Amino acid sequence: MICELHGEPSELKESHIIPKFVFKWMKKTGTTRLRQLKNINVPIQDGIKKHMLCQNCENLFSIHEKWFCEKIFLPFLKDNSLNIQNTENLKYFIISILWRVVKYFKDDGNKYNFKSDLDRAENIWKNYLLHDNIVSEYENIHLILVDNSNFPNKETDLYFSRAVDIDIAENENMCFVYAKFSKFILIGEIKGFENKSFEKTNISLEKKFSSSNQIINDTTVFDFFKNRINQTKSYSDLSESQKKKNNEYHKNRYQNYTDGEYLKILNKHK
Ligand SMILES: [Zn+2]
Repeated sequence: MICELHGEPSELKESHIIPKFVFKWMKKTGTTRLRQLKNINVPIQDGIKKHMLCQNCENLFSIHEKWFCEKIFLPFLKDNSLNIQNTENLKYFIISILWRVVKYFKDDGNKYNFKSDLDRAENIWKNYLLHDNIVSEYENIHLILVDNSNFPNKETDLYFSRAVDIDIAENENMCFVYAKFSKFILIGEIKGFENKSFEKTNISLEKKFSSSNQIINDTTVFDFFKNRINQTKSYSDLSESQKKKNNEYHKNRYQNYTDGEYLKILNKHK
C-alpha cells in the first residue's frame, strides 16, 4: 500500500481523522457513547479511522497532536478566556487535520462540484506537511474558538461544545473543508468566500486567537451550522430498539458521568 502522505509503498497504520485525545476527553467528561452524525444508529467509541499513513508519517502527525493536546486543547477547555498564540506547531496541526478530512471524503464516490480544487488543495497542504513548503494557495484556513456561555438552547450548546464533526461542505458557489471537535472549529476555504467572511480567525494572518473577538460574517456558514445542529437533534429520532438500549446503557453509566461536563450542559438548559 502507498502511504498517502509521502507517496511510497509502506505498511500502513490506521490513522485517526480526528485525534484520539479528543475521544479520550469526551469519554472522561461525558457519556462514553459517541455517535457519528452521518450514521446515527452506529455508536462509535473511538472516532473514524482509515489506513492512510506509514509509521514515520504517523509519528510526524502524532508529535504535533501531543503538542496541541497539552499546550492548546486541555488549557483552553479549562479556561475559555485564554489567548492562543499562532505558531508553526499550531498551523501544522490544523493543516494536518484538514488534509486528513479532504483525504477521507474527497474520493468517497460523491461528485463534488469543486473536485479539482479539492485535489489541488490536498496537494498544496500535503507539500506543506511533508516538505515545509509555503502554503501559497488555499491558505485561508480558520481556527474558530467556541465560547459557549451564551447559547440559546441545549442542542446548540452540545453541538458547539462537544460534537465531533467532519465534512467537505459545498453548494453551487462555495466549498470548504470542515472539522469540529470540542470547542474548536477548523475551516479551510476552498472556493467562493468573500474577503470579509471571517475576522480574527485566519491562521495565515493572525498572531493570536481569542474566543472573544472572532466573527463569522458568512451566512452560508451559519446555515451550515444550523443544519448540523438539526442533525444533532435527530439523535432523539433513534430507532426504538436503539433508544431502549441507550436508556439501559445510560441508567448503568449514570454514576460515572455525574461530574462530567456533558451533564453540566444538560442541567444548564433544563
Ligand atoms: Zn509515509
